[in-house]
Amino acid sequence: MTKNQLTRLTIEIIERGFPELSNIELTAVFRKSKDYHFCWGLLSPEWFFIEASTRLKQAPLIAVSGGLAHELVHITNCYKNIAFDNIADLIYKISRRSYIWNERRTDMEAVKRGFGKELVAFSEWAYTGKPENPERGLSMGELRSIVEA
Ligand SMILES: [Zn+2]
Repeated sequence: MTKNQLTRLTIEIIERGFPELSNIELTAVFRKSKDYHFCWGLLSPEWFFIEASTRLKQAPLIAVSGGLAHELVHITNCYKNIAFDNIADLIYKISRRSYIWNERRTDMEAVKRGFGKELVAFSEWAYTGKPENPERGLSMGELRSIVEA
């Protein structure tokens, strides 16, 4: 997957499930990272970026879509000024439990917006064979049971 394909996929996901983001500027790039699969941030109040680890270039499209949908929930919350995401780093320092709660709620919102199968695919691609970590949000088992329900 190229940077242009990543950008196009992000725009497709916005069109499919995040209408409130349709007017904002978005930059999507690949970056070498051992620490994360995705991260997001703000370049200006109307301009967001998403960074995807270069490892995702080899991932199935549906898995990349799931990861992007999760990040877009964070961006939507920030854009709508839902306080939790704006101070996520601070929250993490204060309370790991609040951070975990926020990651779980972010996954739930992505499922609600129609990206459950994509989240399962991302979880399978990223975490199969790795120990569970609640900081990632919903577990693979939880995601599967929600999507299959
Ligand atoms: Zn997250």
